[in-house]
Amino acid sequence: MISKKLQELLEKAQAELTLLYEIGNALRTTLDFDETLYIILTGVTAHHGLGFNRACIFLVNPSAKRLEGRMGIGPETGEEAQAIWEEIQKRRLTLHDLIANYDSGRVLQASSFHKTVTSLKVPLSERAGGMMALAVLQGVPIELVSAEEQAKAAQDPVLRVFKSTSCLLVPLKGRNENIVGVIFADNRITMTPITRESFRLLALLAAHAGLAIENAWTYQVALRQADLDSLTQLWNRGAFQRTLMESLARAEQAQQPASLLLADLDHFKAYNDQLGHLTGDQALQTISRLLKETARSEDYVARFGGEEFALILPKTSKLNALKLAERIRLAMDRTSLPLTMSVGVATFPEDAHGVEQLLQAADHALYEAKRLGRNRVVIA
Ligand code: GH3
Ligand code: MG
Ligand code: MG
Repeated sequence: MISKKLQELLEKAQAELTLLYEIGNALRTTLDFDETLYIILTGVTAHHGLGFNRACIFLVNPSAKRLEGRMGIGPETGEEAQAIWEEIQKRRLTLHDLIANYDSGRVLQASSFHKTVTSLKVPLSERAGGMMALAVLQGVPIELVSAEEQAKAAQDPVLRVFKSTSCLLVPLKGRNENIVGVIFADNRITMTPITRESFRLLALLAAHAGLAIENAWTYQVALRQADLDSLTQLWNRGAFQRTLMESLARAEQAQQPASLLLADLDHFKAYNDQLGHLTGDQALQTISRLLKETARSEDYVARFGGEEFALILPKTSKLNALKLAERIRLAMDRTSLPLTMSVGVATFPEDAHGVEQLLQAADHALYEAKRLGRNRVVIA
């Protein structure tokens, strides 16, 4: 007969395995970056999960040498906690339900803890970044549980912001020991003591989590790369078509105009013929940078074809589009290139009711600019 103690141990091991399996499974269903973070944090905080009161994830930004708060789940006050927990009880929400609740991050928008977390940037140095930076720099989990450790936490530059005393900091590792971030968890509301057991489980979960985050990140970078033109790093034609469609739908909904610029370099063939294709490529790169600098941050700059560019200008009237087009045309003087540009401008909805029509209207205007002698802007 199995002793009671052994039976208990077996049951606990099985519950742990089920939990890790469930979280692992949920993580396999998505490559969406934020949803991945949400699943991990739900696993850490849900009552059917590890059951911590609060948890958040900071990710390493290697070029800025700092950690950036990306997501936090958990109530900030006792009342907020009560409301959330009652809701979960009342609706009998399981881990699976909570994960399904994600709804593109809408659930996070009301959370003040999430807001605090995402406003924090933590330098990767022990002096300025405290324990959190230390966990990442050394690559080892830190538990602040004993009275002595808690006193240290009270002085910590980051943990102080969370008003956290007893907590865990576990680094998130991807492949080859690459540290992608750190997960923080505590029981600030209930003040339930953190056990060795929950520490061990969080470390186990973090091993899955680090890999899942790295995968989602790699995928996100690849997706973005597939939308970029390799020579100029502007958006490519496919991405442009998609964005134009979305922009017009948004403009229609908001009942605001949106404008489109089509720009084409003048006599670029001659430039190539004289100076060679490589020099031509360099000119395209310089002009692409210029376009990005001259456009506003909300404008969408794409390479439409060989030496043709397209700009989507959201919430922009024809008059303002014309001004921007002129600014871009004149900006060509700032380069040392002996090149000019012709631009066609069209505006939704006054010139067209759909994507194809708008493109045609801008193309006609561009053609007209060429016909009238080039180096000019023409409106539809
Ligand atoms: P226009 O003023 O009428 O636009 O004259 P153009 O010579 O610019 O127009 P055309 O369409 O006849 O030629 C475009 C040229 O752009 C053809 C090609 O030599 C050049 N071109 C297109 N794509 C690239 C590219 O990726 N790199 C380089 N170096 N040249 C390109
Ligand atoms: Mg041309
Ligand atoms: Mg052309």
